[in-house]
Amino acid sequence: MEPKIDISPIAEWGLNLTYPLIIAGPCSAESEEQVFTAAQALASDGRVKVFRAGVWKPRTRPGGFEGAGEKGLQWLKRVKDETGLAVTTEVAMPQHVEQALKHDIDMVWLGARTTTNPFLVEQLASALAGTNIPVLIKNPITPDLELWIGTIERLWRSGITRLAAVHRGFHPYERSRLRNIPKWELAIDLKSRIPSLPIICDPSHIAGTASLVPEIAQRSLDLSMDGLMVEVHPNPAVALSDARQQLTPNAFLQMLSALTFHQSSSANNEFTDFLGQVRNKIDSIDQQIIELLANRMRLVEQIGEFKRNNNVTIFQLRRWENILESRIECGKKLGLDEEYIKSLLQLVHKESIKKQAEILRSNRLTNGE
Ligand code: PEP
Ligand code: MN
Repeated sequence: MEPKIDISPIAEWGLNLTYPLIIAGPCSAESEEQVFTAAQALASDGRVKVFRAGVWKPRTRPGGFEGAGEKGLQWLKRVKDETGLAVTTEVAMPQHVEQALKHDIDMVWLGARTTTNPFLVEQLASALAGTNIPVLIKNPITPDLELWIGTIERLWRSGITRLAAVHRGFHPYERSRLRNIPKWELAIDLKSRIPSLPIICDPSHIAGTASLVPEIAQRSLDLSMDGLMVEVHPNPAVALSDARQQLTPNAFLQMLSALTFHQSSSANNEFTDFLGQVRNKIDSIDQQIIELLANRMRLVEQIGEFKRNNNVTIFQLRRWENILESRIECGKKLGLDEEYIKSLLQLVHKESIKKQAEILRSNRLTNGE
């Protein structure tokens, strides 16, 4: 039996927040000037209620910009005092919590790498116990719903009732159009498991490219998410982290105006509508199937070039028989009809042969044959 988690509504977090919750600001706090330029542009608009900036940055490889540290917290405190925006930053160690509280930070978030580690989450939950400071919990890097829920539970058990999840997508491993795969079906499942939990979408880390941020943001609103956390930098081209995905304040505010916000309601009609929920999951899975087919086609192209360069025939009967047999077997184990898998594979195979034939032909043409 899961413990009942009853999250306090955003409007009762004591920070004058409105629904849907709009959080924006640079990936990293880089300098006092950069932080202020961004904060002032965002505060003057009125729709943004929370200013974000990372002061401790988790970098995949050592040697990059690792954040401004405590200095950054002083800049955030100034933003709070001078603009009236609430401020938030990432905490990944108990010392971060201690320093964030010391500098009057309004809200903290746990990053994707932190949510992945229950030992660390437990330490952070202890450091936060008794504060009831709002905590945003990003999804873990891997699409593991239990790990995400586990982190929420650990914070809940330490007395934090002001919680929200941040959906920032999952590591794709293979190259994909988006930096992180949204796998919307997981966010939908999270909402059904903890209906009172607000879920905020971070379209910046899902998209990875500034031009794709608006379409991800819209998709999340169409799925009745409760807000957005967007990376905004005064001059993204020179950003010290996540340069490709940050929007200028102007582009961000234009995006906000162009987005369709649906009837806001914390009851989240769409999430409680079973048919809508299931259809949304199917849409997300279909999108992933198409991405996988595209990845498969890229590999087919590589093989096509290899065959051309080595003068090997395109169609290899033994390989094709093998594919059919092993995939049908696999499908059967999963309860899928043999004929269904066979026709699907024939379609995929036909397109692969066509592609490889094109590769062969294009070579002949360039060689003037
Ligand atoms: C960030 O928000 O800048 C960040 C590092 O996010 P994530 O933990 O989602 O990678
Ligand atoms: Mn970032």
